[in-house]
Amino acid sequence: MTAIILDGTALAKEIRKDLKERVKRIREATGDQPPVLATILVGSDPASEVYVNMKGRACRRVGMESLKIDLPEGTTKEQLLARIDELNKDSNVHGILIQHPVAGLEDVERELFDAIDARKDVDGVTSLGFGRMSMGEDAFGSATPAGIMSLLRHYNIELSGKHAVVVGRSAILGKPMAAMLLNANCTVTICHSRTVDLAGQIAQADIVVGAVGRPAFIKRDWIKEGAVVVDAGYNKIEGEYIGDCELEGLDDKALAYTPVPGGVGPMTIVTLIQQTVESAEKSLGLSAETVSA
Ligand code: NAP
Repeated sequence: MTAIILDGTALAKEIRKDLKERVKRIREATGDQPPVLATILVGSDPASEVYVNMKGRACRRVGMESLKIDLPEGTTKEQLLARIDELNKDSNVHGILIQHPVAGLEDVERELFDAIDARKDVDGVTSLGFGRMSMGEDAFGSATPAGIMSLLRHYNIELSGKHAVVVGRSAILGKPMAAMLLNANCTVTICHSRTVDLAGQIAQADIVVGAVGRPAFIKRDWIKEGAVVVDAGYNKIEGEYIGDCELEGLDDKALAYTPVPGGVGPMTIVTLIQQTVESAEKSLGLSAETVSA
C-alpha cells in the first residue's frame, strides 16, 4: 500500500486561485472596496506576531486587505470590548480575528471571543457560531477543522459510517473537529489527557486526528492498517516543524495522511481567508455561485 499524501499546500493554492477571482468580483461590485480581515493582537508574543503576519500576507495574496490592530499588554477587557464593538459596526470589515492567547486577558478570552458579531466570526470562535455549526446550521467553522474537512472532501476520503478518533478537545480544534466529523456521519470518539488506553482507542480508528500539541506523540504502531491520519500538530523542535503523529513509515500502512508541514497548516490559513470572502459576499448580497460564475 502506498498512502495518499493529503497535500494541503497544493489544495490551498487551488483555492487561492478561486478566491482571487471572487475578490476581483467583489471589488468590481463595490467600487474597489476589498474584503477586510481585522486581526487583533494584544502584547508581543513572537509566535503570535508570526501568525498574524502570515494571515496579513495571505489576505494580500488574494487581493484582500488586513486591518492589523496591535494593542499593548495591559489593554483592559473594557478597552478591547470597545474595539471589538467598533469593528462589529464597521461595514468595511468582514472578518474579525482575535489572536489567541490574549496576553493578560487569558481568563476572559471566552467573553472577548463571544463579543465578535457571529456574521464576522470567520474563525468560528464564538459560542453561537460553534453551536450553529454543531447543529448543522449556516455558520463559519473553526478554520483548522474546517480546512481539514475541505482537504478530506477534496481527496474523496469516505467519512460516512467510519470511526473517527480525535485526540484533543480544545475549543478551536478538537471539539469542532469532532462535531464536523459527526455531522459528516462518522462515529466519533474524543480522547484527551484523562483518556484511559489511548493506544487502544486509536487502534480502532478508521480516521485519526492528532490535535494534542506534543511532537510525534501518536505512535505509528497504534495506527490501524489502512487508516487515514490527519496530523494537526505543529511543534517547533530545533528549528523544524514536527506534527503530533509519528509519520515515518506510514506510507506502507495508512490509506492517506497529511504531511507536516504542508498538510493542515496551509488549509487553516486559506480557510480563514475563504470564510472572510464569503462573509463579504454575504454582506453585499452576492452569492458565492454568482461571484464564482
Ligand atoms: P491545546 O489547546 O493545548 O489542546 C491540546 C489537547 O490535547 C487538550 O484537549 C489535551 O487534553 C490533549 N492532550 C494533552 N495531553 C494529552 C495526552 N497525554 N493524551 C491525550 N490527549 C492529551 O492545543 P490546540 O490549540 O488544540 O492545538 C493542538 C495542536 O494543533 C498543537 O500542536 C498546535 O500547534 C496545532 N495547531 C495547528 C494549527 C494549524 O493551523 N496547523 C492550528 C491550531 C493548532 P485536556 O483537554 O484533557 O487537557
